[in-house]
Amino acid sequence: MKQLADARAEILAAVPRLGSGVADVDGSIGRITAEAAVAREFNPPFDNSAMDGYAVVASDCVDAPLTLSVNEDTAAGSVPTMGVVSGTATRIMTGAPMPTGADAVVPVEDTESGRTDEVRILKAIDAGGNIRPRGGDISPGDVLVAAGVRLTARHVGSLASAGVNPVVSDLPTVAIMSTGDEIVGYSTRELKPGTIRDSNRLLLSAALEELGVPVVDLGIVGDDPDVLRDAYRQAADQADVVLSTGGVSMGDYDFVKQILGELGTVDFWKVAMQPGKPFAFGAIDDVPLFGLPGNPVSTFVSFEQFVRPAILHMMGASRILRHQIVGIMGEDVATNDAKTVFLRVLLTEDSDGTYVALQSGGQGSNMQSSLASADALAVVPVGTGSLSAGDDVTLEMIQWPEGRTSDE
Ligand code: AMP
Ligand code: MG
Repeated sequence: MKQLADARAEILAAVPRLGSGVADVDGSIGRITAEAAVAREFNPPFDNSAMDGYAVVASDCVDAPLTLSVNEDTAAGSVPTMGVVSGTATRIMTGAPMPTGADAVVPVEDTESGRTDEVRILKAIDAGGNIRPRGGDISPGDVLVAAGVRLTARHVGSLASAGVNPVVSDLPTVAIMSTGDEIVGYSTRELKPGTIRDSNRLLLSAALEELGVPVVDLGIVGDDPDVLRDAYRQAADQADVVLSTGGVSMGDYDFVKQILGELGTVDFWKVAMQPGKPFAFGAIDDVPLFGLPGNPVSTFVSFEQFVRPAILHMMGASRILRHQIVGIMGEDVATNDAKTVFLRVLLTEDSDGTYVALQSGGQGSNMQSSLASADALAVVPVGTGSLSAGDDVTLEMIQWPEGRTSDE
C-alpha cells in the first residue's frame, strides 16, 4: 500500500503548471495570482483629511479655545483653492485634500461654529493629527498580493483601490464522468431494482464549482468498453484534467481499468487511507487522469486529498491543503491502524474554546448523511489504531462552520 503523503507527492510532481494572464480585477475573486500584484501608485494618492472638521496650523491651536477665520469649504472630490496660513482654517470633509499650509485637522466635535466665516477651536491638536498622508497605506512597488494567493473579496478591494489588474493562473477545465451500469440520473423518477442515483458527479461538479474551475460534464457512462473508451477520449480532448468515479477497486467487474490501461499510462493504487483506498492516477495524452473510487464518501475524500490539492497546485497556489487544527476526541473510537483514517465529525467548543469531535454518524464509505452533516474530518494517522475520549486529534477543516449567532 502507498502512504497518503507519498501518493499526494507523486501526484503533485506529475501535474503540469498552467499558464497565466491578466484578469480584470472585477470578477477575479477566487482566482490564484500567478505573480505578485504590485502597486504603481500611492494610496492615498494625496494627503487628505481623516475627519470632518477644520484644517489648521497646529501651532495656532496650542492655546485653545481660540477663534480662527474660515477661508473656504473643501468637500471630498474637490480641491482646495486657498492655502491655510496662521490665523485661518479651511472647513474640510473626510477624504478631501489637505490645503497647503495646514498640518492638522481639528474634528468638528472639538469646535463651535456660529458663523460660516469663523470657527471656535476648543481643543489643541498635534501636528499631523487627523491627516491621512499620501502613500500612508501603499506606495509604488509595494506588494498588494503575493504570488500563489487565492483572491478573496478583501484582495479584490485592495487591488481595485490601487487600480491593479492581477496576473492570475489560467483555470483548468475539468471533465467529470460517473461510471457503472447501476448508476442512473439523480432525477430518475423511480429507481429500477439494482440501480442507484448518481451522486458522485453532482458532488464533484459542486466541489469544482466551489474551486471556481469550469467543468465538462460527460454524464454517466455504462460498463461498456466502446462507450468508456469514447468517453475517456473525449474527456482528454476537451479538458485539462479528467475525473471519473467507479470501477477502480479490486473486485470490479467492469472495463474502466482495461480501457484506462489501453488509452493512457495509468497506475492503480492502493492508498493506505480510509475511505478511499483504491485510486487510479495517470494521464491520457498528457492530461492528468484521476480514477476515484465509486463509494461517494471515498470519492469525496479522494477528491479532497488528491484532486483538490492537485488542481490548486496546477494553478500555482501556495496553499493547497485544508487547514488542520488540533482538537480533542469526544468519544472512544477504534480505527484501522494500517491506514490514515478520516472520520466524519461534528465539532462543538468546550468552555475553553477547544474543539471537541464526535462522529457525525455512520462511517461506512457509502454513508453520505454523515458526510453532509460533518464539520470536519478527524485525521487518525497510520499506526494509531484507537483514540480515547479526551485524546488530541487532528481536525481537517473541510469547511469552517459559522461559529457564532448573529447577536453574540
Ligand atoms: P465501484 O468503485 O465502481 O466498485 O463502486 C463502489 C460503490 O460505489 C458501489 O456500491 C457503487 O454502486 C457506488 N457508486 C459508484 N458510482 C457511484 C455514483 N456515481 N454515485 C453513487 N454511488 C456510486
Ligand atoms: Mg463499479
